[in-house]
Amino acid sequence: MQLELFVTFLFIQNQVLVATASSSSEEDEDDDKGSSHEHHWGYDDQEGWSSTFQDCRGQSQSPIDIETGKAIYDPSLPHIELEGFDLTGSSALKLQNNGHTLKLSLPSTMRIVKGFDQVYLASQLHFHWGTVAVPGSEHTINNVHFPAEIHVVHYNSKYTNISEAASKRDGLAVLGGFIGIGLHENENYEKILSALKDVSIEASDTDIPGFNVRHLLPNNLEKFYRYQGSLTTPPCFQTVHWTMFNETIMVSRKQLAALEDSLKAGHQLLSKNFRVAQLLHGRRVLASFTSSPSVNKDLSEIKPTFAPIEGQMSRGDMLSIALGALFILTLLAFSVYVYQQRKTYSRSKKHSRENVIYKPATKDDV
Ligand SMILES: [Zn+2]
Repeated sequence: MQLELFVTFLFIQNQVLVATASSSSEEDEDDDKGSSHEHHWGYDDQEGWSSTFQDCRGQSQSPIDIETGKAIYDPSLPHIELEGFDLTGSSALKLQNNGHTLKLSLPSTMRIVKGFDQVYLASQLHFHWGTVAVPGSEHTINNVHFPAEIHVVHYNSKYTNISEAASKRDGLAVLGGFIGIGLHENENYEKILSALKDVSIEASDTDIPGFNVRHLLPNNLEKFYRYQGSLTTPPCFQTVHWTMFNETIMVSRKQLAALEDSLKAGHQLLSKNFRVAQLLHGRRVLASFTSSPSVNKDLSEIKPTFAPIEGQMSRGDMLSIALGALFILTLLAFSVYVYQQRKTYSRSKKHSRENVIYKPATKDDV
């Protein structure tokens, strides 16, 4: 009887170990599997990634915080030009829950034809997100997270496949977009999000009809930030030309909630799959544009330089104005009071002087 119990205990323990191990066995930026896949990682232990994956402690890691005031305008940055992104009517695309993200496989007929020294071919796209309470973009703008982020991963056409390219200095180009909450449903995102129920279990996949993938990116591709970085998941290869578009992509609150609440990683909810911002270590962030960024910012973040513009006053600004007005009123009241007092005093002095009988000093007084 005791032996039976012991064997049962061992069996359960083994099952738990197997379940834990299989819950995190794939990377998301890189499609094809390398030797790194024998190792397991999770978002709860980001500090620990570098003990297994050396590159994760490198000096050119991603994501980063983009400080808009420090980004350098580079007019020589070529605009991005895409080809073959409209997959309407073409063969179905594989949508997969790999335990780390929601991933859509893309054909290499989709490519970036202008923007870099070489043509880059698409491999896959995936997302990073948080929870209702925690916005889950990987990159941040002036330390502000967006609700979610899309990454479209491409590899340099001079390499045979993404596996070969992933470890090369000029191997990868990722197009990234910030996802925010708007009033309307985004029908392009719905092409993917409507299939979430079919991939709720980890390692499950489904086919979705081809559609125009260009529409998942912002309308404006001309305004972007560019820097040299890495995969944001192990093995963290520092081989990515990063492009983060300035314009935010809008989805409805309901659509974002579907992304946040539908997928499982093991027995747990798949959420908060974002890496924390990494240090720049002297890297420069370039911008393709000069005007103040149109990335949606909390208005209270904007400090008025001169008079606050109507409609942009924060509670703090209004309080300062009220206090200022109160101070001026007090000063005025005080001035009036002092003036009145002086008047009264001089009048009484005049009266008292009239009553004084002149009395010359005598020697006795000294
Ligand atoms: Zn990613």
